[in-house]
Amino acid sequence: MPEPDRPLSERPWEDVARLLSVDDALARILADITPLEAVDMPLLRARGMTLAESVCAPCDVPPFRNSAMDGYAVRAADTIDASDERPTVLRVTAVAPAGSGETQTVGAGEAIRIMTGAMMPVGADAVVRFEETDDSVASPDSVRVFHSAALGDNVRQAGEDVSFGSAVFAAGRTLAPPDLGLLAALGATTARVHRQPRVAVLSTGDEVEQPGTPPRPGAIYDSNATTLAAMAEGWGAEVTSLGIARDRLRDVAEHLKRAAASDLIVTSGGVSLGDYDFVKDALRAAGEVAIWQVRMKPGKPLAFGRIGGVPLLGLPGNPVAAAVSFEVFGRPAIRKMLGRRDLTPATVEVVLGERLENQGMRRHYVRAWIERDMAGEWSARPVGSQGAGMLTSLVLANALLIVPETVERAEPGDRLRAMPLGAR
Ligand code: AMP
Ligand code: MG
Repeated sequence: MPEPDRPLSERPWEDVARLLSVDDALARILADITPLEAVDMPLLRARGMTLAESVCAPCDVPPFRNSAMDGYAVRAADTIDASDERPTVLRVTAVAPAGSGETQTVGAGEAIRIMTGAMMPVGADAVVRFEETDDSVASPDSVRVFHSAALGDNVRQAGEDVSFGSAVFAAGRTLAPPDLGLLAALGATTARVHRQPRVAVLSTGDEVEQPGTPPRPGAIYDSNATTLAAMAEGWGAEVTSLGIARDRLRDVAEHLKRAAASDLIVTSGGVSLGDYDFVKDALRAAGEVAIWQVRMKPGKPLAFGRIGGVPLLGLPGNPVAAAVSFEVFGRPAIRKMLGRRDLTPATVEVVLGERLENQGMRRHYVRAWIERDMAGEWSARPVGSQGAGMLTSLVLANALLIVPETVERAEPGDRLRAMPLGAR
């Protein structure tokens, strides 16, 4: 938990003095976030959510021995001499359709016409596929078998997919569609997962206006609320909008009141050093919030703390800085709430295509296009204009290329890491 801050006016030097590395800032945020409680979620709403408990199989899958093919259930020993030239003739005593719960029996010299998924008759230990039989020539209740079946041929054993009592999933598993299918195969209708975080998004600024309203001199449309909400939703959160707060302490506080039932408040703007950046004072007045200067670009100022017990992440106002900071700090925080174990998104090693300068000892997240060549190696090149307000650079990018704070200049051919930005 970061220490509570006194108002900026009392300690004006503090903001600039407090330079944090990206890793330290992230570690502090994650230390204050805990996974949300477990809920029973209907399977179809649990995709992408993370199991809060391990799952053991309450039954076998498949639950009974059954046929893997349409054919004849036989005793393998009866077919030992069968061949194309000298087929074995068996007496057909019954038909076994899938879904019939009737226990049937195959005796010596007998066969039962069986469908895929039907219960294997007692006494039968193999299935000969229709393709290896002929029932058109001999008498109506007999079949000619051209193939010698081995024990267990085309038979699925009870529990061969999942056996009763076995460990199916460990807690922390993020559920993909086949996982949900397997839970259904075990008879479950719900999965016990960490519940979805409720993320409240607040924009700030006297110049920021709701899209859809008439343009006004000096004003811009709020893009951050939409970018940040869509990002959070894509990561599995449920998003509510707190609207736009004006650059006044009271207004920010008023808007924040509506976030009491949220799991995370995300604000943008008002945390830098401008004359009207009151949001940070409002945050400090409303709760325990620290303002950090993080050694990164874009996105140096960052606020984190709690308002009325709810974690708050205060992002810079510049659209790219807001989105990059949210990717770097917000995404792992949301993953932690979701109960995931892999908190930081995977990165890939890339070969740089152009020279890059990185002055100022800050970690630079360069908007880049990465692609894989024939040899499987990733290459990266910067895209768009790298200004913190140039949203188009993010629109053009499919990754953030990470230039470490210790690297002042990267040359073509250098190896760096990049964070892919998800499917488009
Ligand atoms: P601030 O951090 O409040 O000083 O804002 C930095 C820059 O980001 C300014 O140019 C703001 O107009 C812009 N900005 C702040 N909030 C938003 C927003 N919600 N949507 C788009 N731009 C914003
Ligand atoms: Mg502002």
